[in-house]
Amino acid sequence: MSEGTEEALRENEIRPDHLMDGQAEAAAADINWLMQRSRSFVLVPCPACGFQTASEAFRKSGLVYEICMDCGTMYINPRPGPELLEEYYNRSEGYRYWNEHIFPASEGARRDKIFRPRARRIADICHRNNIDNGVLMEVGAGFGTFCEEALRLGTFRRVIAVEPVPDLAETCRRRGLEVIEEPIERVRFERGTVDVIVSFEVIEHLFSPRDFFRKCADILSPDGLLVVTCPNIKGFDMVVLRDLSSTVGAEHLNYFHPVSLSRLVRECGFGTLEVITPGKLDAELVRKAILSGELDAFPHPFLRQVLVEEWERVGDNFQRFLADNRLSSHMWLVARVK
Ligand SMILES: [Zn+2]
Repeated sequence: MSEGTEEALRENEIRPDHLMDGQAEAAAADINWLMQRSRSFVLVPCPACGFQTASEAFRKSGLVYEICMDCGTMYINPRPGPELLEEYYNRSEGYRYWNEHIFPASEGARRDKIFRPRARRIADICHRNNIDNGVLMEVGAGFGTFCEEALRLGTFRRVIAVEPVPDLAETCRRRGLEVIEEPIERVRFERGTVDVIVSFEVIEHLFSPRDFFRKCADILSPDGLLVVTCPNIKGFDMVVLRDLSSTVGAEHLNYFHPVSLSRLVRECGFGTLEVITPGKLDAELVRKAILSGELDAFPHPFLRQVLVEEWERVGDNFQRFLADNRLSSHMWLVARVK
């Protein structure tokens, strides 16, 4: 759940420290459940380019992370198949904990600092691409906060929340949203009726992002827009922290970068309009890893200088530099149906 967008954002606001122990415990139980079924995991080619040859980057919690020798995408391989993944999410204690504790405790900060700016950014992207008063579909709507904010802007004539998890779909309905309670792959929707599909931090979870993008291309209107966010494996905190990064975990199967994700969407019928990395948390995450001793900064005195010794003076500027130069680990891709 790598997030962080516009406003000054501190990690504690969206992941309150006092709740993270409970989350860690629940997540560990999930991994345990999954690893007990690891014999049923399946081998896959690169989820971005389909290349068959990859080299092992590292192992974490018994999972193998490989880097595609062709496009540099990192991915868990072997990985749980589609049915096992569906069962995993339906019974996940970590997600239940997140939904019952962390999300309610942090919704105010998330709404102000993530979802409202996110809705504005989407409206702006649509406007710049001549989609006004269009139909918006969010895939993986969660609590429905983004859809609420998108409706509130008044720039979309219809907002549809696609959310397969029953509890979350119910929350969306209680907020008065139009909800489709199905995984996107099973959504039956009249072709060409949606002008923009948005999906935040979803594609890294999918067994087959390729199937997802093809389905999006089927649903969208001619010239329809697709906006997805996900981790960027070539971003600062992911490059520095590697397996230490909290983004690297069993539920994140795919780790794209700007070029590999553009290539994938192109093969699924889209043309990329822009890739940006408006992340806010890279520097802080690496700083925390240094301060906690998790990351040994001794071989990297410059990191210690920027992220610890001179943090107050240069921290914000350094993060802005990363974000402005496509070097943050939080990535947005905007594409249009070809
Ligand atoms: Zn590849």
